[in-house]
Amino acid sequence: MSDGSTGLRLYNTLTRRKEDFVPLDADNVRMYVCGPTVYDFAHIGNARPVIVFDVLYRLLRHLYGAEHVTYARNITDVDDKINARALRDFGSEIAAGRLSLNDAIARVTETTTNQFHADVKALGCLEPTHEPRATGHIDGMVAMAQALIDKGHAYVASGPEGREVLFNVSSMADYGQLSNRRLEDQQAGARIEVKDHKKNPGDFVLWKESTADQPGWPARFHVAGQGVDILGRPGWHIECSVMSEALLGQKFDIHGGGIDLIFPHHENELAQSRCAHGTEVMANVWMHNGFLQVEGRKMSKSEGNFVTIHDLLHTEKFGGRKWPGEVLRLAMLMTHYREPIDFSVRRLEEAEDAWLRWGEVRRKASEDDWLAVNQTLHRGGLSGDVLAHLLEDLNFYGAFALMQSDAKAGLAGDRDAAMRLLMHAVFLGFDLGDAAVEASVPEIEEILLRDMVAERLAFIREKNWTEADRIRDELLEQGIQLKDGKDPETGERVTTWEVRR
Ligand SMILES: [Zn+2]
Repeated sequence: MSDGSTGLRLYNTLTRRKEDFVPLDADNVRMYVCGPTVYDFAHIGNARPVIVFDVLYRLLRHLYGAEHVTYARNITDVDDKINARALRDFGSEIAAGRLSLNDAIARVTETTTNQFHADVKALGCLEPTHEPRATGHIDGMVAMAQALIDKGHAYVASGPEGREVLFNVSSMADYGQLSNRRLEDQQAGARIEVKDHKKNPGDFVLWKESTADQPGWPARFHVAGQGVDILGRPGWHIECSVMSEALLGQKFDIHGGGIDLIFPHHENELAQSRCAHGTEVMANVWMHNGFLQVEGRKMSKSEGNFVTIHDLLHTEKFGGRKWPGEVLRLAMLMTHYREPIDFSVRRLEEAEDAWLRWGEVRRKASEDDWLAVNQTLHRGGLSGDVLAHLLEDLNFYGAFALMQSDAKAGLAGDRDAAMRLLMHAVFLGFDLGDAAVEASVPEIEEILLRDMVAERLAFIREKNWTEADRIRDELLEQGIQLKDGKDPETGERVTTWEVRR
């Protein structure tokens, strides 16, 4: 289609409806996603946007061509939490003069960034085109703060923690459009104490003065013809405004992140960028993934259910065992990206059942078929119902149901279904190379056995004794004896088995 639309529809937080996606330039489709603050291991809540927008990135590459999509995901390496961590870990070395604060901070951010990269690689995510770091764009942040001062959207004031350059929210007529908060409502309902130096309680920091034990960069601002020097550091929001402009331009197509970022982070990014550039929009489409909770509760360190990606991949803290990255990826995608997700051992087990099944389809495929699958993908020859679901606001759930039925049919001997499943799994970032092929065979047999038992129980409920007996006899031939009984609590029929070989 000449306007660049491809049938992709996305829910836009800004307009609160699903819209046809039309890129500004089909030759360069541009997406920005807010990345992690690197002060510690990333938790599984951080993994969700990385995985969700990886699927979107893959889909955009399929639709527009890999070389026509630019994806930027930042690393926040200036933050008071990083500073605190550096002082905690290297305080004595800093005090003894063996290490500068900046070097200590660099150590924290480097280690944490490497951990993050290892985590997301294990989760099957492609590297973004650009991964800018805040510390690489400080000059741009000072320049944007100055542009906002020049245009009457920002001012310098002295607060309890030193001088600050603040964004004046009342200078922007439609401030609050993304989070749907009107300024008057915010001010009337504001619980936070109005700090004297702010003109409005919602005014936020673009630049703040640093003390000797905080990282700082020299900056000179020009206010009403006077130079004002503030050795300081940027506020959080301004880094994304500056880095997205540097890499994607003043207007781009998609801005993504977790739902908790809508306010204040994205609202304020949008305000800064639009006011600095005098544009009507920053990004055309704003996308947000839903909340994540763990075993039915909000994840928090005090609740004791705080789980990092690293914990799941490499330790036995969750469910008493380690989990493969592909299983985590699938567990994350099994809920629609806009819905809240409950991360639990049960969910991981479900994902693992599916994953092992896919591995079995791969194991049974001939090398010629596997080659054909990869060649078709390479030629961009993906189509059909799974793609149709993904085009409808990344409906992975619908896609997954079809993949599961293809997996089942594939294992029952339907070659086309098997090839479809393999193609879709690879397309969605699941590595079906050696790891899956070597998946434990007894486990797969057990899953298939559970399928047959469930199928037999369904026949029994329908009083189709012929089919029920056929399954029982078939299993007996393979040396598996079924035993029917009753669940003592629910009274429902249950079937157990034992191997008689
Ligand atoms: Zn951001």
